[in-house]
Amino acid sequence: MEYRIASISGDGIGPEIVEEAKKVLNKVGELYGHRFHYEEVLMGGISIDTYGVPLTDEALETARSCDAVLLGAVGGNVGNSRWYDVAPNLRPEAGLLAIRKGLNLFANIRPAYLYEGPSDACPLKKEIIGDGFDMVIVRELTGGLYFGERHTEEVNGIRQAVDTLVYSETEIRRVAVKAFQIAQKRRKKVTSVDKANVLDSSRLWRSVVEEVAKEYPEVTLEHMLVDNCAMQLVMNPGQFDVILTENMFGDILSDEASMITGSIGMLSSASLNEGKFGLYEPSHGSAPDIAGKGIANPVATILSAAMMLRFSFDLDREADAVEAAVRQTLADGFRTADIMADGMQPVGTEEMGDRICERLTDSLK
Ligand code: NAD
Repeated sequence: MEYRIASISGDGIGPEIVEEAKKVLNKVGELYGHRFHYEEVLMGGISIDTYGVPLTDEALETARSCDAVLLGAVGGNVGNSRWYDVAPNLRPEAGLLAIRKGLNLFANIRPAYLYEGPSDACPLKKEIIGDGFDMVIVRELTGGLYFGERHTEEVNGIRQAVDTLVYSETEIRRVAVKAFQIAQKRRKKVTSVDKANVLDSSRLWRSVVEEVAKEYPEVTLEHMLVDNCAMQLVMNPGQFDVILTENMFGDILSDEASMITGSIGMLSSASLNEGKFGLYEPSHGSAPDIAGKGIANPVATILSAAMMLRFSFDLDREADAVEAAVRQTLADGFRTADIMADGMQPVGTEEMGDRICERLTDSLK
């Protein structure tokens, strides 16, 4: 099959890590008989330098015309860059918001797993980690408290602020469907997280999720209150498969889940629209402090490319192979500086990509 991918390298370490993800995709193409064509798209600081804005309409159109988007990261050193001496809507990160909105990416998918290798970096006790954990957080991304009406006013000389939390059943249903579809491809369990003992929006959330669950009888659904979920993540992370939740709860829980994995350089993410289209990017930023040094960990971006194979192209076998090659590379002891541990073999960005490609090839022997 042939696929067109919008490739957005962005700023900082972005070009270095996207290069490695493309290397791995090209190896997948070679081994499994696919062709990936890349359309280079400028976004972030590099687009500001070239066009004066973080994302042009043409760039958005090119991204929309492709089958999926692969993104490195955008942004510079916030305290020390000309990109930040302008209005917020002209800064590099505004490109990110514009592309998510422009492509209607309402479901954010963030896996959090602990591979056997770098568990030294996990802050949890060994008896809690057990055999490790492997979960996916599906977060609603374009509704709820962050997008509701808000204002600050003064009433009888006292300042008060109002934020509104609105969810329609349509918004809940479409993200719930994504969570159940993902669970079907995994261990078939959805934990829907809400605050239904207090919030009306959560009670609607719960009832719509239950309606959707009826269409997926092979998937088990459980409900969990958000405060309990925050505790369970550090007490028994192995119990979770797919966590489905609204925007603000997902913002907080996905950061908590990523912390217990121990390394930001390992965490992939995807933002999906109603169909098969998605934007795939590492969870970390552009790391300007290590840009150009050849030491950035490309694994998060490579695993994001694996998500692209799975969610946008339905190439599950190929996605499994990339994930297995990453696991094997780590099990064989190769480590970039951010996940280095005693007795391991240090490698740079490029060599990490090469080692993963080698193991991909080996997996077909
Ligand atoms: P960051 O994630 O870029 O870096 C935090 C720390 O983690 C740094 O020490 C960095 O060196 C390290 N790190 C991050 N990714 C790494 C990797 N792959 N390998 C090894 N080490 C890695 O967060 P920050 O420093 O707060 O932000 C830097 C810039 O990135 C800012 O301009 C910010 O706005 C932007 N940012 C962009 C995105 C995005 O494009 N999606 C997300 C977050 C932050």
